[in-house]
Amino acid sequence: MHLHTTASDGQLRPSELVQLARQHAFNAIAITDHDTTAGIPEAQQTAQGWPVIVPGIELSAEDDGVDVHVLGYDIDIENAPFQAELARFREDRLGRARRIVDRLAQLGLPVAYERVLHLADGGSVGRPHIARALLEAGHVESVRDAFDRYLYTGGPAYVARARLTPEAAIALIHSAAGVAVLAHPGLVPHYFPLIEERLIPAGLDGLEIMHPKNPEAVRQNLQALARRYDLLITGGSDFHRPGDPIGAVQPPADSLHLLRQRVARRAQP
Ligand code: AMP
Ligand code: ZN
Ligand code: FE
Ligand code: FE
Repeated sequence: MHLHTTASDGQLRPSELVQLARQHAFNAIAITDHDTTAGIPEAQQTAQGWPVIVPGIELSAEDDGVDVHVLGYDIDIENAPFQAELARFREDRLGRARRIVDRLAQLGLPVAYERVLHLADGGSVGRPHIARALLEAGHVESVRDAFDRYLYTGGPAYVARARLTPEAAIALIHSAAGVAVLAHPGLVPHYFPLIEERLIPAGLDGLEIMHPKNPEAVRQNLQALARRYDLLITGGSDFHRPGDPIGAVQPPADSLHLLRQRVARRAQP
């Protein structure tokens, strides 16, 4: 329920991802690219119903200097105001990538902005593309190294994006008829008060409890929150590239069913 393609910073085309999902005999996959749904039609055309393609999105919000990602599921990808907002986010990513490239040059680590765009291949540009350009230029030893030394949030080459609050991300997903789920809460140090005091009142629908970056103790806290507030439990491997352990982390078996029940309930007057 959390997979990326070349439409954002994943390394498999949507059609290739569908083939991989079939090899793993998955019944359904959710494509959740950053700020774009461009990969979904190709995936649906390739899949022809198997696996079922759940139209998803991953939005990057920010709170207190921390990245807070919000997943949307079963969104209406034809919703024009929603798509206009995504287009704005992608524009903003372009400007930010240029500013990161400028900052890298000041740090003595030149990479070509055009090369970054080429690596993004028309998709949603992100720090992983810049990391790959740094790797190609021989400035770092790996993508990970690029993040650890320069690109991490608050790092020497980091440039923030226009602010989107987690509440606004939830509202945007709801505006496109989707279900809003907090992604990898384990990466948000203040996840507990954030969820309880702000995201529940904002209408959060679920928690991504099964995620490689959620430690066991965090999962237990999240389970308690999910029970207390009747939240959906989702999960996924956050697959970006071959070699990532696809399918190693899965949502509970009834997850998609419960998610669709919630969508149907909301659609009722
Ligand atoms: P951006 O969307 O430009 O803010 O980039 C965030 C993306 O970079 C995340 O969704 C991850 O896929 C990736 N990322 C974040 N931190 C790291 C890291 N330490 N190592 C490798 N990839 C990372
Ligand atoms: Zn990503
Ligand atoms: Fe994320
Ligand atoms: Fe992700």
